[in-house]
Amino acid sequence: MKLKTLAAASTAWLAALALLTASGFTLSATYMTREVTCLFNIVREVRSITQLEVHLLSHERESARVALAHLPEHVGARDAARRELSRWLEDAREQPVTAESASVFEEAEREIERYLATHTQEHRQAGASHDEVDRTFAALERLLATRLAEARIARQRVDEVHRLSEIVSLGAAGMLLAGVLLALWQLRRCVYRPLLSIRAAIDRYGAGSHDARAPQGGLDELREIAVAFNEMAAALAEQRKRQLGILASVAHDLRNPLAALKLTVDGLRPDRPLPHEERLRSMLTRIGKEAARCDRMLTDLMDIARIEGGELDLRRETRDARELARDVVELYRPTATAHELGLSLPDEPVPLCCDPIRIEQVLNNLVANAIKYSPAGGAVQVTVARVGAEVSIAVSDRGVGIAADDQRRLFERYFRAPSSSGVAPGVGLGLWAALRIAEAHGGRIEVTSTAGRGSTFTLRLPS
Ligand code: ADP
Repeated sequence: MKLKTLAAASTAWLAALALLTASGFTLSATYMTREVTCLFNIVREVRSITQLEVHLLSHERESARVALAHLPEHVGARDAARRELSRWLEDAREQPVTAESASVFEEAEREIERYLATHTQEHRQAGASHDEVDRTFAALERLLATRLAEARIARQRVDEVHRLSEIVSLGAAGMLLAGVLLALWQLRRCVYRPLLSIRAAIDRYGAGSHDARAPQGGLDELREIAVAFNEMAAALAEQRKRQLGILASVAHDLRNPLAALKLTVDGLRPDRPLPHEERLRSMLTRIGKEAARCDRMLTDLMDIARIEGGELDLRRETRDARELARDVVELYRPTATAHELGLSLPDEPVPLCCDPIRIEQVLNNLVANAIKYSPAGGAVQVTVARVGAEVSIAVSDRGVGIAADDQRRLFERYFRAPSSSGVAPGVGLGLWAALRIAEAHGGRIEVTSTAGRGSTFTLRLPS
């Protein structure tokens, strides 16, 4: 899983939860408001109905008093009760009526209106009046009972919604808690633990345990970091192994000239008589040659270190490329007795602006390889030519050659073609250093080779 996916999933989950909870609360609040308004209206209507009942009874009582003794205070009280009846009827009419109570209200309204209409006359019969009062009172009682029943139902509904919103809030809180715990658990599993393991692997590596590797788990990004760290650690281990190999190989290569030196110097010990002049000269020449060989090997090593550190500075001067090629061939001619070293030079000088020591180093490497990788002997040909604005120096051999697939990798550091690595010792750094030197001169090295038939390495430099 990617970090982005985890973050998006957690955010979406929490947002959905928050949205769900908010919608639940809004819905229940709206519902509650509706029911509370309904209850409020019922309470107001109940008040109107009870007032209607009170004033109906009061009107009836005062009407009876007026019938008995036509006193003005009774007439006033009766008329006041009548006015109150009309007023509370108006008030009741203003209340919203539900579908269930509409017919009951209309009946009560009709009864009150009829009662009021009958009692406009000054005099009336007492018996008829009682019936009307009872009917009107009974209609009002029915209306009251209907409204109270509605109030009870509304109250029940409010209770239910309250219970439901309690359940919703508890559920939302539970889900929120579960969501947060799940997100924390995922963070711990996919981020925190893998990070700790990578950190531990880095610490172990830093403390010198070079086989320390980070476990590849958790988020994709962390897995990629772990893979990159492991690859880096493996590459460093491989490089270390190669460096140790180079050290061993250098020590081994140095041992030969040093052994020769030691042997020759042994012959010149003070307790022994000096050999005659001719032998002495040849011994001194040998000492000089072996010391030069050691010096060249160490210089090559230092050059490689310099090139690796990017500190290759060139001391340019203009030299005849023919001379450089000739010097290198002459250097190898005495030792390469099994090979036929050929040199093909143009008649005219071939001026080349270069660092001659470095270019000789490149040519040395190409000629040494040509000799080394043609163990059965044969011709090694060095050809100098001017091609347009370039100088080319080609070194050809008829040795083991290089397979097409391996030719692409020849200039990689430490690369050795499998076909030739068993033929002669080496560490795979010579061509790498040679190409860096050629490139520092603005040039290149080209290869043509056929496995089993030989190779040609051509150094091309701007003149
Ligand atoms: P080294 O010779 O020390 O291994 P180099 O960098 O000089 O290192 O050469 C790299 C590899 O290229 C050699 O190991 C060998 O496989 C191949 N190679 C170089 N020159 C030749 C050649 N003339 N013929 C065949 N193979 C060659």
